[in-house]
Amino acid sequence: MDYEKFFAERINALQDEGNYRVFADLERKVGAFPRADNYRENGVEEVTVWCSNDYLGMGQNEEVLQAMREALGKCGAGAGGTRNISGTNHYHVLLEEELAKLHGTEAALIFTSGYVANFTTLSTLGSKMPGMLIISDDQNHNSMIEGIRLGRSEKVVFKHNDLEDLERILKDVPLDRPKMIAFESVYSMDGDIAPIKEICDLADKYNAMTYIDEVHAVGLYGEHGAGVAERDGLMDRLTIIQGTMAKGFGVVGGYIAGSKAMCDFVRSFGQGFIFSTSIPPAVAAGCRASIQYVSQHNEIRLKHKERVRYLRQKLDAVGIPHLDNPSHIIPVMVGDPVLCKQASDMLMEHYNQYVQPINYPTVPKGTERLRFTPSPLHSEEMINELVACLVKVWEHLGLKKAAA
Ligand SMILES: *Cc1c(COP(=O)(O)O)cnc(C)c1O
Repeated sequence: MDYEKFFAERINALQDEGNYRVFADLERKVGAFPRADNYRENGVEEVTVWCSNDYLGMGQNEEVLQAMREALGKCGAGAGGTRNISGTNHYHVLLEEELAKLHGTEAALIFTSGYVANFTTLSTLGSKMPGMLIISDDQNHNSMIEGIRLGRSEKVVFKHNDLEDLERILKDVPLDRPKMIAFESVYSMDGDIAPIKEICDLADKYNAMTYIDEVHAVGLYGEHGAGVAERDGLMDRLTIIQGTMAKGFGVVGGYIAGSKAMCDFVRSFGQGFIFSTSIPPAVAAGCRASIQYVSQHNEIRLKHKERVRYLRQKLDAVGIPHLDNPSHIIPVMVGDPVLCKQASDMLMEHYNQYVQPINYPTVPKGTERLRFTPSPLHSEEMINELVACLVKVWEHLGLKKAAA
């Protein structure tokens, strides 16, 4: 086999389909979020970023940076090992206490990323609980799907957010068989929100554990930013709450929160936890400072909501079609992969507005979109400018407008 030829051919095929991924080369700038420098072939341009998952701009928060500098100065760069062998730093312990406090749980366990938290926890519960059945929403994130797959327990998929379909499945499972319903709160592509209370009711009725991925909600919802379950007063009804410190909290790292025994179980059997070096102490310190800040500053969430509402209003006023949903995610629908990419390219190259095109396989064919996530730091002027640029792009490309 000609290995190099094989790689090149597969990449060419991706390019022909329009599914080849090109990354924007950006340099984020402290104090200037959501502005960033964009490195291009013929120079550097300052752009406004509209598709960051640093939803609140916490990545540049001075208290977070100060905590990181201090811990970096004290502890140095890396953790020095896995948690088991020399890699448990006091900052890790403090961070886990902070997370448990945030979610009102007995304990929490941190991982190198949200992906690893999902992958490790689900694969561990699937493989180490005899007879386990995992009942999984059909739009769950790749990290959940792959974790469930690695666990090799039986798995059944229910229709997205469909309580009838979920109950149809639960009804047929013996009450005493171990089972878990795995789902997300905010789904990141459509921005819709799961019926958490009703899922917990079904879990109680049929004696199931619940596993919620609140990755796109932590920091953003609830009085202290613990997520949609906090907002709805449901945190104590979930068996496992999973989250990330990379999005709303603006740093990096993942976690689960729940009972002491459950966290201890995953700590003791989870291979993606045991065999991987822990996050650097400075990162743990930054995460903790961010959680503390975000939980004490509800006004940041109010401002966030207001900016989301403002962008939606402006889009409505000019007839740019977007999905109506109850979250902070604004998907502007294009419905064609080539046009979606062209719209994104034009916004970047002509107008210095950066929003990544979202095409198949991330979303179904025919629902290609631009996904906007305005933060509290996107000013009204920035939003007005963006909408004016979108109008020009829509006219230039002849894209569909919303019915007036
Ligand atoms: C991004 C994401 C993750 C992974 O979190 P990271 O901290 O980025 O690894 C997990 N679940 C969902 C739904 C996500 O969107």
